[in-house]
Amino acid sequence: MKPDVKAKGTWVHRFSIRFFTGVLTVLVFWLLGFLVQDIRAIRGPNYAVIEKRHLAPTLVNKQEALAKQIADLTRRIKNQTEKQRVLGDSSRNLQQTMTQLLELQKIGMQRNVTFSEREQTNFTNSLNLFLENQKRYQELSRTISQTLEQKQELVREKEQIDRELDLQRKEARTEYQTLSMKHRLRLAFLQLAILLPILAVAAVVIARKRNSIYFPLLLAFGAATLIKVAVVIHEYFPTKYFKYVLILALLLAVARLLIHFIRTIAFPKQEWLVKQYREAYERFLCPVCEYPIRTGPRRFLFWTRRTVNKMVVPTSRRDQEQPYVCPSCGSTLYEECPSCQKVRHALLPHCAHCGAEKEIA
Ligand SMILES: [Zn+2]
Ligand SMILES: [Zn+2]
Repeated sequence: MKPDVKAKGTWVHRFSIRFFTGVLTVLVFWLLGFLVQDIRAIRGPNYAVIEKRHLAPTLVNKQEALAKQIADLTRRIKNQTEKQRVLGDSSRNLQQTMTQLLELQKIGMQRNVTFSEREQTNFTNSLNLFLENQKRYQELSRTISQTLEQKQELVREKEQIDRELDLQRKEARTEYQTLSMKHRLRLAFLQLAILLPILAVAAVVIARKRNSIYFPLLLAFGAATLIKVAVVIHEYFPTKYFKYVLILALLLAVARLLIHFIRTIAFPKQEWLVKQYREAYERFLCPVCEYPIRTGPRRFLFWTRRTVNKMVVPTSRRDQEQPYVCPSCGSTLYEECPSCQKVRHALLPHCAHCGAEKEIA
């Protein structure tokens, strides 16, 4: 096994990689936006059309006709009221004139001056005009009240029709809302039908090529797709559903992480395994069960993980290295090297004498 040394590069390079990963994420996000743009542009239901289908045309026509008539009557009432006001003004004027004439006559009678014929005629004319005005005023009042009655009747009729139309509009609105919701769900479904397969591909590729040097590229691709999917779900599904989708996704992610760590401990990776074996060999303890490796000069000694470095080991040059099996668990700890026929560590990758490499299971 070769030492796995990765070139880290200068900080400028590392920063550039992160920066461009971010840029790539944004670009992929845009691209996905263009992909689903046409779907988003699909027209939804048209309220005007639905309403037209729900409203009875006869009622609508009648309502329009009534509104026109009511407006007409209102205008007429306004005209007549105006005329009445003008008549009223003129009557008041005539009344003043006649009062003045009467005053003059009274003063004349006191001075024994008789009312001239012309003055008499003037007075009579004014009186006639006044009476006629009053008559017309009364007539106008009658007409106005009749028109008002007519108008009120029409208004009542229109209100009745309005109520019926409102009921029909309510049905139209309900149908529109149902159709709108269906339309939105359809849009969401279509967009997800495009995005989810991309996300699945991204997830699979990321999982497979975790150790690839082009991992940042894949990461940008996967992250952008994931964000886009989240945005679409958030936009089209009500918050109450989005909550469940989110918690489900988080659950899956956390469960996946947990499984990863559990597996790391249960099935340690080779480098971790070698590290663990190396430390055990250094302390002359069986890497598998930690039972002391009593071979060579240590054959009659006793030690533990803590005391191993403090003891004095009797040196004896006669001691030859020999193959050794842990008496406790039966693991082969020293064995004959197939290339140099000397004794080597059975659980470390390289032979201490010739450097021959073996696979550590
Ligand atoms: Zn052992
Ligand atoms: Zn060897």
